[in-house]
Amino acid sequence: VKVLNPVLYGRLRKAFGPVRVSNEGQELSARNAALYDGRPHMVFRSKGEYYQVNCPFCADTKHRLYVSYMYGQTHKSGRRLYFLVFCFNENCLSRSDNLEEFEDRLGDINHAFVHRGTEAPAEAKEVSLPGVCLPLSDLPARHRSRVYLESRGFDPDVLCRRFGLSYCESSRYSQASNRIIIPVYEAGVLKGWQARYIGDPDWKSAAVKTSGLIKYYSCPGAQFRSRCVYNFDAMREWQTGVVVEGPTDVFRFGSMAGCVFGNTVTEAQRRKLYSVFGLRTLVLMLDPEEFEKPRTRETVAFFRQRMGASFAAVRLPAGTDPGSLDRDWQKEYVRARAAEQGVRVVYKKVQ
Ligand SMILES: [Zn+2]
Repeated sequence: VKVLNPVLYGRLRKAFGPVRVSNEGQELSARNAALYDGRPHMVFRSKGEYYQVNCPFCADTKHRLYVSYMYGQTHKSGRRLYFLVFCFNENCLSRSDNLEEFEDRLGDINHAFVHRGTEAPAEAKEVSLPGVCLPLSDLPARHRSRVYLESRGFDPDVLCRRFGLSYCESSRYSQASNRIIIPVYEAGVLKGWQARYIGDPDWKSAAVKTSGLIKYYSCPGAQFRSRCVYNFDAMREWQTGVVVEGPTDVFRFGSMAGCVFGNTVTEAQRRKLYSVFGLRTLVLMLDPEEFEKPRTRETVAFFRQRMGASFAAVRLPAGTDPGSLDRDWQKEYVRARAAEQGVRVVYKKVQ
């Protein structure tokens, strides 16, 4: 077996029996985060190669003790990585006597030679929330995040329950602190997040533009804005999917809507949408001026060509922000505009 840490692999085998290797050859990527909640934190971008053995401390027979190939090594931040072992069966190594016994049975490991791995593929990279995030429903009624959402016509408890919105109290990213966090999941896995500024100064004014203040701060490095369709897990349960620009448009429209984080539908997003809605119906709902842009025309052509009368492009009435329109009105508007194009919109879940 060719593994990144042959010494550790050999010792695990000797002490605990057969070893399974996962994420073979992949480099662990993590960095020490600031003490944002009073404890040293390590933020993992990718787990890297790890070894699975039967946990000797519980009745595990499914190789549920995970040991990173970097176990016992010194991280570039200077930290010894003795915590990179975990029993997924009963969390046995949270007990210090078990941890000590594990260390004893392996013997001194921190000078073992470790091969360099390869960078994990982008899909395998892990994303975590920006810091201490409190569910909106756990906050006092007068909390500014709740008051702000209510002022925009949203129910913070519904947004918390259905979309997992939280408030970030402190973060290693200054642009995420004191903002509303909108997590982006796909197949139940966190792929990224956006941090929404609380409040609405005149975003188009010169003063705001030069101040560097941004409406949405996106999780760095995650590339979710070009790869993911927001709310896709819920959207895919519907007969008709409605593609909108931003997360708040989704909150406004309802769970059959998904957003592409802007006005461009990327190649990856098109494919994703087509894979689910190719045999159902799909509506693209954007600002009128977007339809003049080459990228939008390309997107419309892509779906028209493949879906024919199962795809409609709907222009919002000029000068309106979808966020300002009420849900029933929007649904009816989309149904009527699509019908004019010979497309039958069905707001029902797929059986
Ligand atoms: Zn265990």
